[in-house]
Amino acid sequence: MTTVEMNANTWVATPLPPASGPTGVAGVEHYGEPLAAVVRLDVALTRGQILAAVAEGFSYREDRDPDTLTVAEVRWMVEQAIETGGTLALAADADTIWDGFGTDDWGAELTERMLGLARAVDRAYPPAGSSPIVLDGTPMDPVARCTARNCGWTAHSDDVAFVSEAALRHAEVHGVVAR
Ligand SMILES: [Zn+2]
Repeated sequence: MTTVEMNANTWVATPLPPASGPTGVAGVEHYGEPLAAVVRLDVALTRGQILAAVAEGFSYREDRDPDTLTVAEVRWMVEQAIETGGTLALAADADTIWDGFGTDDWGAELTERMLGLARAVDRAYPPAGSSPIVLDGTPMDPVARCTARNCGWTAHSDDVAFVSEAALRHAEVHGVVAR
């Protein structure tokens, strides 16, 4: 079982990427009972976690060429992987990918497929896209601040979820900017 320790000294200031989705309602196929709610949530992921999510989704679609995957298909794979496995599983899967990638254990075909999936990830979540919002401080004392000229917006709370949500809302003021 994977455990994560929050280390108050290791959180570095990071630009808040733009939000996307939801692309669909995940989970509706699992249960033969009446549904009670559709719960929405925002989940921040690393590029490795996104790649792991797409690799998982693609394992059911190996008849496809990764370079033909649409943005909507890629985003839906990611949303489904979050719903079924969660972010900790994706982080562990990403570690497995990075441990194997480029080694002799990976054949040329698998390596090329992963590169294709990485290109698909970049189409769905362009690396050039960012917002002027920076998450700063530490997990125990989080701060969000806007780096746009003449703005000066900040949010500060001991609740990282509150700060992140406020930052996401403020980011909409500026839209996506080049990093
Ligand atoms: Zn601002």
